[in-house]
Amino acid sequence: MAKIIERNREDRKYSITGGGACSRNLSENFKKRCLKNAERSFAQTTQCQEINSIQALLSMEDAAFVVHSPNGCVGCVSFMNDNFKVGQYHRNIRNIRNARYIVTSLDEKDIVFGGEEKLKRAVLDLNSRYSPNIIFIFTSCASGIIGDDVDAVARNLQEKIKPIIVPIHCEGFKSKVPATGFDTAFNSIIKYVFKDEKPEKEKGLINVFATTSIGYKDQIEIEKLLAVLGLHVNYIPFYSSVEKLRKIVKAEYSVAICQVFADEFMEYLKNEYDIPYSKTGMPIGIKSTDEWFLSVAKLVGKEDIALKYIEQQHEKVLPEISRIRKVTEDKRVFICAGTGRGVAAATLIDDFGMKLVGIQTPTYEEAIIENFDQLQKIHGGDFIIDIANMQPFEQVNLVNKLKPDFFLGMSNWVSKLGIPSTHILEAKRPTFGYTGLIYLGRKIENSIENPSFNVKLAKHKKLPYKESWYEENAFKYLKEGI
Ligand code: SF4
Repeated sequence: MAKIIERNREDRKYSITGGGACSRNLSENFKKRCLKNAERSFAQTTQCQEINSIQALLSMEDAAFVVHSPNGCVGCVSFMNDNFKVGQYHRNIRNIRNARYIVTSLDEKDIVFGGEEKLKRAVLDLNSRYSPNIIFIFTSCASGIIGDDVDAVARNLQEKIKPIIVPIHCEGFKSKVPATGFDTAFNSIIKYVFKDEKPEKEKGLINVFATTSIGYKDQIEIEKLLAVLGLHVNYIPFYSSVEKLRKIVKAEYSVAICQVFADEFMEYLKNEYDIPYSKTGMPIGIKSTDEWFLSVAKLVGKEDIALKYIEQQHEKVLPEISRIRKVTEDKRVFICAGTGRGVAAATLIDDFGMKLVGIQTPTYEEAIIENFDQLQKIHGGDFIIDIANMQPFEQVNLVNKLKPDFFLGMSNWVSKLGIPSTHILEAKRPTFGYTGLIYLGRKIENSIENPSFNVKLAKHKKLPYKESWYEENAFKYLKEGI
């Protein structure tokens, strides 16, 4: 069976994971192929691909998970589990349960003597506790470094127990781009879940690739939009199951919630199963929603229906947008989010008359350069792009210098600078489509009108950096060619 390309995201064509400058400079150098990737000689707080692999699959209904790692590697899973439980509540499930996962808690002894026995016990334990249809094993830096043969453990256990056992090789050290974890998960689905057959297509079925980070309200919005085009949805791997994963190959079309989530998997499905797909930015904000919806409409040949629907929706939302703009107009904004969500957020702020002054993005690459060009047309070329997977020290330095009126995205650090902020990754409330943009607009309006939380936080809580750091060049530790 063919595979999707097995490579890390940073190994894609002309993909930059470290760098920083104004958008105009970056774009010009990128197009001349003069932009070189820079490494950090000092780095802080990054996200790793293991977390994305787990996040992609955690909401599967009939799955259980072993994380073959020390305890610290599952630190973020409690936050994903929280979203998973809220998601169940929103879906009217009243016996709400936790995600079914075990961490093997690799310790010093296992690092010396190996952790395969622990892994075996964890898989058998999960099976007897929950009788799942599928067990995913996530690897980690520790299991990768000591060389535990996770595939062999899975193969041997597969002869003894019924659930499909799927190793996911998502060792954090393998990639600097967390989104590689999505490709790793999809590769394993192809290898262990797909059957080598080409079934008949189900009329009107569309695969929508999404992670647990979209909420129920967003699910409803997406279904509403796609129903206008006569389509029904198979969500992958979001709240799916083995049955739904196997249904992927029956779909007539595919689309992803974000252009960097499942692009290579959708290309694989096109080549192997003749499933055409559409790839655009996230449907956040009026422009990005129009584009997302129209690109699916083009795919199914129903552009005229989509255009009429878009016109009706604009009529509904424009009066409220105008009202919100009285508060938001001309406010200067800094954004920090994943690549796809960040770019979409930068179009959303334009709906509300706000200006982009800076954005932190994990990658700057061929697949997304058109989106950044579009942002330049909207916001001009002077906004700063920090190509960084997190890196709070760079973020607070830039925010302190640029002094935006508002911060959109992951504001854990800058909220201590007293800047009004709100986040854009909302698994609990709407963010997508014409419903989501009004909700986000009102949230931004509220935060600007009442910034007292951040103001008080700044008064009582200081960031750990010396005053001298704020005077330094934010990109001081970026070095080309080290
Ligand atoms: S897998 Fe590696 S990078 Fe990821 S959390 Fe564990 S130790 Fe950190």
